[in-house]
Amino acid sequence: MNKLDAELSLGLLQEEGYKIVDKVDEADVILFYTCSVRQHAEDKVYSHLGALKTLKKRRPEVIVGVLGCMAQKDGETIFKRMPHVDLVCGTRMFSRLPEMLLKIRNHGSRVLAIDEDQIVNVKRAVTYRLNFYQAFVTVMRGCDNYCSYCIVPYVRGREISRTIADVKEEVQSLVSNGCREVTLLGQNINSYGKGLRGNVTLGDLLTELNEIDGLDRIRFVTSHPADMSRGLIRTISRLEKVCEYLHMPAQSGSDEVLKRMRRGYPAGYYRDLISYARELIPHLTVASDFIVGFPGETEEDFQETVRLMEDIRFQNCFIFKYSPRTGTKAAELKDDVPDETKRARNLKLLELQKKISLEENTKMIGKKVDVLVEGASKSNPNRLSGRTRQNHIVVFNGSQDLVGKLAGVVIHEVTDLTLFGLLIGCG
Ligand code: SF4
Repeated sequence: MNKLDAELSLGLLQEEGYKIVDKVDEADVILFYTCSVRQHAEDKVYSHLGALKTLKKRRPEVIVGVLGCMAQKDGETIFKRMPHVDLVCGTRMFSRLPEMLLKIRNHGSRVLAIDEDQIVNVKRAVTYRLNFYQAFVTVMRGCDNYCSYCIVPYVRGREISRTIADVKEEVQSLVSNGCREVTLLGQNINSYGKGLRGNVTLGDLLTELNEIDGLDRIRFVTSHPADMSRGLIRTISRLEKVCEYLHMPAQSGSDEVLKRMRRGYPAGYYRDLISYARELIPHLTVASDFIVGFPGETEEDFQETVRLMEDIRFQNCFIFKYSPRTGTKAAELKDDVPDETKRARNLKLLELQKKISLEENTKMIGKKVDVLVEGASKSNPNRLSGRTRQNHIVVFNGSQDLVGKLAGVVIHEVTDLTLFGLLIGCG
């Protein structure tokens, strides 16, 4: 969502005549889109801001801005800690970025823009995109779930969904400008439609978007198990453009920990959902997030998580050490798992996932996959890189004119993260 908000902001600024430069030293405006889900992410932003002090002394006219969740959460504190910052702009105010920058430039005054009640309403400049054949599209913002460890509902606010007509118009416009794949975004996307007239669901939205000519692939993130219905799984299984990939964070395999996390489901429910989805959707891959070292997590609790990972065999997982976020319910619990134990558990899960990913990827050797080509491979610019419908990263030889096209590739080698193959055709 930060990537998309940054793209939308850049689109707005470009309309005002701003240009993107490659080097920080050449910029007149430096903006940070921030995340406050973990302490580590915030520390990184403060460290980057600190590093700009010298530049700001040398060129005081440069505007430094902090946007997004951390700005919403820390507000005025950012000015106190980093007096060279000119702009602090919360999660729903960035549509007014051009006028805020103008105010700072013309009056030399700082701007603090935190407003809980603003609805984000950004007219998308579809002609300005970081990538022309893939696009993120926000379909809802905010979250009503209040998982005990999570800061998102406090910084992003309550759930608000866009109407189907509004989303469809944006996707149609993206497609007519060359887009082939959309990823629908929502903090809790399975509850899309809440508050809209007429019992609208994510299934209805996907069904409508599936009808758009020229659109090849639809993805959506992030799914919450408690809000993922069997009906939605059945709908997905019927829609040929919806990719066979589900990012549905389990967070823990222990019922006790899940209860303290206020996730609203036991591990067995999660397992049943995945079995049901795999029955209906052939070749489905599943990704998850896990938090280790949540308050009170015992070795037995942790082993439940290990078992869940072994049983489900995720395609990939994001694994984090728990860090308390001020203002959340979990922050009232004693952070009693020693850091050393958190680190060891984190490492154990990372290694286990690496092993599973390699084993699963090895099964792909000799198979033909359809790849939407994204561009040059990061590790080897002479090769191309893209993704399968199941979200595998595929690297292969081919010319740059394949970028943005669908390519048929036969896999001959794999690592835990990447499939390597040979091009056999394109369309
Ligand atoms: S559903 Fe996701 S965004 Fe919402 S509170 Fe839980 S973890 Fe946070």
